[in-house]
Amino acid sequence: MIQFYNVCKSYKKDAAALVDLNLKIPKGDFVYITGPSGAGKSTLLKLLYAAEKPTRGQILINSQNVTRMGSRQIPFLRRRLGIVFQDFKLLNTRTVFENVAFPLEVQGRKRMEVGKKVFQTLKLVGLEHKLNRLPLELSGGEQQRVAVARALVIDPLVLIADEPTGNLDPEVTLDIMELFKGANARGSTVLLATHDREMIRRFPRRVLTLEHGRLIEDRPA
Ligand code: ADP
Ligand code: ADP
Repeated sequence: MIQFYNVCKSYKKDAAALVDLNLKIPKGDFVYITGPSGAGKSTLLKLLYAAEKPTRGQILINSQNVTRMGSRQIPFLRRRLGIVFQDFKLLNTRTVFENVAFPLEVQGRKRMEVGKKVFQTLKLVGLEHKLNRLPLELSGGEQQRVAVARALVIDPLVLIADEPTGNLDPEVTLDIMELFKGANARGSTVLLATHDREMIRRFPRRVLTLEHGRLIEDRPA
């Protein structure tokens, strides 16, 4: 369960990125966050993975108060989240296998276990045959599938995706959406920021609409 209580975020004085946000997202929900550019979508997600701190208000994930977490606790929170970005953010000097193995190594898993889980997850995204490639040897769609594998390999409590298909062609977008649906079916709560209306129409789920930092609509699935 994710909860936002009266959350405000201003990066600068007199310029609010989020205004008095109240929100409850039950475990296992699949939620789109939509709205025009600059509406506050990325900010909402960044607050959730503690890349930014709210100016006011409280954010809870599984009853843990993210707002009160110290810098030593934040890495433990992030280890349970899977995050996917529009620009992939892969380690370009590491192989596909190494990129996907990384979150498991951070968790201190044993080598055998890491190898097995990475292989399974690469199979899930259809890239087990490319495990020794470097990211830049792959297409954009393949790179994003590696990024999704890296997010999913830990079976995340919450899968957070910020415009994950923004630079991808429609066919690849469908593949990525299928992976998110699968993760949701296996128990991950999914939060996906997008302004792709076609995607929302094809895969109808709960939709939160932001405008000028305010939640103007919360439409159930
Ligand atoms: P969206 O993801 O919906 O495009 P953002 O959350 O990125 O919106 O931005 C919301 C508002 O906050 C915008 O006005 C943006 O310019 C501002 N903003 C975002 N990040 C920063 C930052 N690091 N410093 C200053 N202003 C920022
Ligand atoms: P399943 O039949 O359960 O779907 P897989 O076909 O995913 O199993 O994998 C079979 C086994 O092959 C896995 O247990 C895995 O440990 C192993 N394997 C094959 N290639 C690799 C690799 N490159 N790295 C790690 N494990 C591998």
